[in-house]
Amino acid sequence: MAALLVTNIGQLVTWDDEQPIRETAALVVDGGRITWVGSSSVTPLADERLDVGGATVVPGFVDSHTHLVFGGDRSEEFEARLAGKPYAAGGIRNTVAATRALPTPQLRLRATRLAAEALRSGTTTLEIKSGYGLTVEDELRSLEVAATLTPHRTFLGAHVVPEGTDASSYVDLVRGPMLDAVAGVATAIDAFCEDGAFDEDQCRAVLTAGAGRGLAMHLHANQLRPGPGVQLAASLGALSADHCTHVTDEDVTALRDAAVVAVLVPAAEFSTRSAYAPARRLLDAGVTVALATDCNPGTSFTTSMSFVIALACRELGMAPLDALRAATVGGAAALAQRDVGHLRVGARADFVVLDAPSYVHLAYRPGVDLVRHVVRAGEVVR
Ligand SMILES: [Zn+2]
Repeated sequence: MAALLVTNIGQLVTWDDEQPIRETAALVVDGGRITWVGSSSVTPLADERLDVGGATVVPGFVDSHTHLVFGGDRSEEFEARLAGKPYAAGGIRNTVAATRALPTPQLRLRATRLAAEALRSGTTTLEIKSGYGLTVEDELRSLEVAATLTPHRTFLGAHVVPEGTDASSYVDLVRGPMLDAVAGVATAIDAFCEDGAFDEDQCRAVLTAGAGRGLAMHLHANQLRPGPGVQLAASLGALSADHCTHVTDEDVTALRDAAVVAVLVPAAEFSTRSAYAPARRLLDAGVTVALATDCNPGTSFTTSMSFVIALACRELGMAPLDALRAATVGGAAALAQRDVGHLRVGARADFVVLDAPSYVHLAYRPGVDLVRHVVRAGEVVR
């Protein structure tokens, strides 16, 4: 691959410790990596040159929490919710039925389209969970579909208890035969710790079984009400606790002390008209915060990290710079992938060229597609 010089960058966000944001900058990409960052007035020679005419360049978004593999949609449930019906975890079962009924080629096609939609909007690193199969066969094929799209594949067999079984025998299936079947395809394990889903002991049993097979741990925690999920994630050394909408001061301290990333998903709260996560409390306490879409057909059917950033600024009280950091390097921390989410020398060349004079426009111009180019591993994909 020939070296590419990207020059005349009006504003470049690298997250470099000394100079996180540069004006009138340039960068060089070689072999899919950032090999040089500096001023656009003194640039090295390169085989190819891309003049972005004063545009803003930010790291590609890292969406560390999605449920992209599913059948059907739940627009009727969404419409009913707008008319006043509250969200309950049981709605997941509707998607389970639709997912099981969908042949694998269609399941793959739908997930591939959503992943392409995410990439077009600037998401260059994507995590995908299973969790709408809930049988050995359907969880495995969901993860095999995810494996065609991303290196970050999370086994979420413990999403909801399927109809016709009880929680305790289902947990035995998840941490036994189901985990055996998927352990070679999944890279992480997750569970939904919530009334109506799985309790603390059940989640601990599932996550420790996964960790025993070398999987990283995530946990859906404290989404609908206060509960033990955040403390459990911290005590197990999970990579992330996701949602964190209802957290106590002790929960916040536990996240910080155990270096667990709080993955916030405000688009889910937007869609369900729920209270938003206390991002400022988490940030002020020194917790690493990530922003993710939680893309799923029930509670957050968006792939747009720009939308999530805008929500985080408006509804979570995050400064635009904090929100962009959480949507890039924060997500990378939640996935333990250190070469993405920033544009320091050595990083994978994943970045977004925005038709805007500054990154602030991501929040300032909500709903507007500002993405001019998306570059992933040095390749211009949009
Ligand atoms: Zn989720």
